[in-house]
Amino acid sequence: MKKHLLFLGAPGAGKGTQAALVSKANSYLHLSTGDLLRKEIEMNSTLGKEVKDIMNRGELVSDNLVLEIVKKNLDQDNNGWILDGFPRNLSQANSLNEVLINLNQPLEIVFYLDIPEEVLIKRLLLRGRKDDNEETIRTRLNIYKKTTEPLIRYFDDLSLLNYIDANRDPKTISSDIKLKMA
Ligand code: ADP
Repeated sequence: MKKHLLFLGAPGAGKGTQAALVSKANSYLHLSTGDLLRKEIEMNSTLGKEVKDIMNRGELVSDNLVLEIVKKNLDQDNNGWILDGFPRNLSQANSLNEVLINLNQPLEIVFYLDIPEEVLIKRLLLRGRKDDNEETIRTRLNIYKKTTEPLIRYFDDLSLLNYIDANRDPKTISSDIKLKMA
């Protein structure tokens, strides 16, 4: 059973939903950088104040900042972990690589949740989070295409990539993932 997982895919692809299911079933740490940042905003912490406007515009917060959050969380005792929303660019992927070498916990599998763009936009508008309005969605999808999508090739070259058709119901996707994790 794989213990060190990563979910890759556009905003709205269902990474969070699937990561939560795997986390619950296996007591793995679910490390969603988006959720962790939103918590900081809710707490009105210094960090939260720093990232609030950036996130509401749909832009990426600084690499150093998310890296610190990821490091802090990976340092906790765990049965396994799932990264969701990190890395989002090549520089973050390289930093992650170094962190994992130091922890001696190499990444074992990457699930790439693929879904057509028009489905994504519909899903995000239905979800209605603060950063789910049309303008912000456009920004997030553009950033995704430009800076995050190259990671598909990056992880494929490392033979870690597993393609998942994410345009299906959550249960079907989940059993697909379960099979591939075994
Ligand atoms: P989604 O993938 O649906 O856009 P997330 O919850 O993963 O939602 O991310 C929401 C926002 O949090 C992003 O638009 C960005 O501002 C910030 N964020 C999350 N993860 C990262 C990251 N790894 N690097 C930079 N910014 C991030």
